Amino acid sequence: MKAIQILHTGGPEVLTLTDLPTPTPAAGEALLRVEACGVNFIDTYFREGRYPATLPYTLGQEAAGTVVSVGDGVTSVKPGDRVAWCGVAGTYAEFAVAPAARLVPIPEGVSAEQAAAAILQGMTAHYLSHSTYPIQRGDEVLIHAGAGGTGLLLTQMAKSLGARVFTTVSTEAKAALSRTAGADEVILYTQCDFAVEVKRLTEGRGLPVVYDSVGKSTFEQSLTCLRPRGLMVLFGGASGAVPPFDLIRLSTLGSLFVTRPTLKDYIATSADLIARASDVFNGIAAGTLRLRMEHTYPLAETAQAHRDLESRATTGKLLLVP
Ligand code: NDP
Repeated sequence: MKAIQILHTGGPEVLTLTDLPTPTPAAGEALLRVEACGVNFIDTYFREGRYPATLPYTLGQEAAGTVVSVGDGVTSVKPGDRVAWCGVAGTYAEFAVAPAARLVPIPEGVSAEQAAAAILQGMTAHYLSHSTYPIQRGDEVLIHAGAGGTGLLLTQMAKSLGARVFTTVSTEAKAALSRTAGADEVILYTQCDFAVEVKRLTEGRGLPVVYDSVGKSTFEQSLTCLRPRGLMVLFGGASGAVPPFDLIRLSTLGSLFVTRPTLKDYIATSADLIARASDVFNGIAAGTLRLRMEHTYPLAETAQAHRDLESRATTGKLLLVP
């Protein structure tokens, strides 16, 4: 089968199209034909070596497709079932294996491409808005990268929970997309200081929560957007990792809280996984959660997909179609 591997870490040029034996599912696993595979920022972190991996390593953490065969003891899925999964490495390939317990059925009305585009970013937006900080009607919230794949979904969920949503984006075109997703106040951080703008728009109140996936270049200013006892949700580092931080700053800025959440801890049980994925897929099927597909690439063009994602050129979801 065709797959994208890295033999060593580095830039997009280390992504190598290779031929590998089709894997065999072990007990408790299923073999899956990958119909579409999501490209996520976390894939670039593994490619760069920011997150450790045993080499050679087949990238990719999010996909949808069909069950081909199952290993011993698997009764929850059978060949032919349409499923989506995430958080299991090896999806940049024509076939992948995953634990059967991590597979989510794709409902009628949702295509494999939609499921692959939504499962990781959709469940991320879901846990951030419903669990990390459960948004209440009337809350004022800031979402960075508001026109990104995760940002567009998080904005829609925050709006549906009744929030007044502020976003940051880099360009006018991205601002228009963020507004279409429901953002009330879109801040072009390339033209003004977003923290000053947040203070102005909230008449000095500050926010109960900031969702920050940009990291290094926004973290310090994001803290100053919070009201006393507000929560900083640092859930990514698109601009780089946040450097070591003196905790006393949380006291001087108003008894703030900081969390660095990750999806796997919010879908650790099958019940959590199925509940979150079902909420996301049902929203797509009903048309209440809109996905923006930016571009699809064949496996051979994976390096271009990474370049596009890292260059800030994209708005919405990038997919590989093996
Ligand atoms: P996006 O589509 O949001 O792309 C990243 C965006 O970040 C860019 O489009 C850009 O928007 C903004 N950005 C700001 N500064 C930079 C920079 N220096 N380099 C690149 N981009 C920058 O990506 P995803 O939706 O795939 O992921 C968003 C974030 O969410 C990532 O940090 C990812 O790691 C994180 N994430 C975390 C998860 C978790 O559970 N913790 C799960 C899933 C994703 P603009 O041009 O408007 O500034």
